Amino acid sequence: KKPVIAIDGFSSTGKSSISKIIAEKLGIVHLDTGALYRGITWFALQNCMDEDGKIDLPELFKSFHLIELEFKREDEELILYLNHINVSKEIRTNEVSDNVSLIAKQKEVRDFLLDAQRLIAKNGGVIMDGRDIGTVVLPDADFKFFLTASIDERTKRRYSELLSLGIEADEISVKENLIKRDRIDSEREISPLRQAEDAIVIDNTNLTKRQTIESILQYLTK
Ligand code: C5P
Repeated sequence: KKPVIAIDGFSSTGKSSISKIIAEKLGIVHLDTGALYRGITWFALQNCMDEDGKIDLPELFKSFHLIELEFKREDEELILYLNHINVSKEIRTNEVSDNVSLIAKQKEVRDFLLDAQRLIAKNGGVIMDGRDIGTVVLPDADFKFFLTASIDERTKRRYSELLSLGIEADEISVKENLIKRDRIDSEREISPLRQAEDAIVIDNTNLTKRQTIESILQYLTK
């Protein structure tokens, strides 16, 4: 049976891009769970705003049945579709990054996504990256990793990722957003960002992406 692998960690530690490459190497599925929370946030920003320009949470919870999230494989990439529209660029915007942690701390939102995530891992052969995969979503995963890196290194990575997507950004606000999200994610009551007790911790501040992948592969093939 193919393995179930959980990858958690702080924002911009390379979880998704690393998981994607490992999935290709092992011939398994990669699920970027952050994209799901971002997709719901994008939906809320489009459809559930109150008069003060804030997200109307009760309205969002009432609208779950209107949200269809789907990943489609295109050129070896999994592209997120929200109600049949490609939102892979929209979910990376600053607007979404600024609001996603507030959405992700809601119990209703986490419950809504939990079963779907578990269903994907049911038959094995999956690498799932997020914040609570090893602790809550897939506590019985065959392998668990927890990635971390210095805030300055992570800021550099996220900044260049945004530039390459053509999204305007400046390093100071990128850094502020990472710190704020990590704080909200770590302090929330339900499924906080945590290192599972049995996770292998990798600090990749001074590692290239390739070196981080090599290090993970060594554990997987041991
Ligand atoms: O991974 P990414 O940075 O795209 O995740 C965006 C946000 O989604 C995180 O900051 C966090 O608030 C939320 N998230 C979560 N649980 C996960 C994955 C993401 O709460 N498993």
